[in-house]
Amino acid sequence: MVRDLAALPKAHLHLHFTGSMAPATLVELAAEQQVSLPDSLRAAVGPQAALRLPADERGWFRFQRMYDAARAVVRSESAMRRIVREAAAADAAEGSRRLELQVDPTSYAPFVGGITPALEIVLDEARSASAATGVEVAIIVATSRTRHPLDARTLARLAARNASDGPGGVIGFGLSNDERRGDTSEFAGAFQIAARAGLALVPHGGELLGPDHVREVVAHLHPDRLGHGVRAAEDPELLDRLVADGIAFEVCPASNVSLGVYAEPDEVPLTRLHAAGAQIALGADDPLLFGSRLLDQYEAARSVHGFSDAQLADLARSSIRASRASESTTTQLLAEIDDWLAQPDD
Ligand SMILES: [Zn+2]
Repeated sequence: MVRDLAALPKAHLHLHFTGSMAPATLVELAAEQQVSLPDSLRAAVGPQAALRLPADERGWFRFQRMYDAARAVVRSESAMRRIVREAAAADAAEGSRRLELQVDPTSYAPFVGGITPALEIVLDEARSASAATGVEVAIIVATSRTRHPLDARTLARLAARNASDGPGGVIGFGLSNDERRGDTSEFAGAFQIAARAGLALVPHGGELLGPDHVREVVAHLHPDRLGHGVRAAEDPELLDRLVADGIAFEVCPASNVSLGVYAEPDEVPLTRLHAAGAQIALGADDPLLFGSRLLDQYEAARSVHGFSDAQLADLARSSIRASRASESTTTQLLAEIDDWLAQPDD
């Protein structure tokens, strides 16, 4: 008998709105909207799927095309609500107690009357889902590297106006899409707006590109957490500095392998990051396309990387500490993690 990882309380800090969908939901929404899904996407979400793309621009292009096709089935308020509700329910079943879900409301604005209503729908459903599942669902508004920096500022202002630590509040601001796109420094203005509103700054960085890009993201955007950041492990000095500065890492092992950053799961530098004292929050990123959810990342830490239960409890603690959960929630969850580890494991 081993300790049940689904019973280990944890926070899920790297999950995208569209990418959180279950394959069955994607298929049902497509049927509802009479949208036909491209074969590549159908294959990628099938039961035997194991997406393995090359880590170059062509690989990203294929990923982005599938992602865009998935997003194209989300064309109504009810579909948006369903995605938030199901993400919270799936997290609840895996022992997540705090979900910080990342969304770019711009993508859904045309179907619901603008970015403000698009965000309000997500926030309202996050409140309902928190009450229904017991998972605290908070929202990260994320802009994309493919958008104009002025649009990013508009989105940052919207995020700032909705900043709240309560359930269904905006707690963070992110920057996603291909790390090779856009000029990082041009997004500094948007991140300053978010910082003034007290939001957590959580840009992607250090997955597709290496240490130099991580340095750029840190210099211009002053992140509290790095979306991924795994490739900082290639530069021990940089890694030490990030750890000393308290910048947390949202590590998504399945994503790294699917996007070709590492050829095999055991090459994800989880052990190196943990040994360096990094604050790590495991995340699923886009389970729809990567074929595994939050719990699978913890299972992989155990089975692929040989983490002991004490080390797995460490990962869970650091996910809670890296989250924007309140003091009282944090204290409660850390105590429950101690209880989990105190159970006999025979
Ligand atoms: Zn991501």
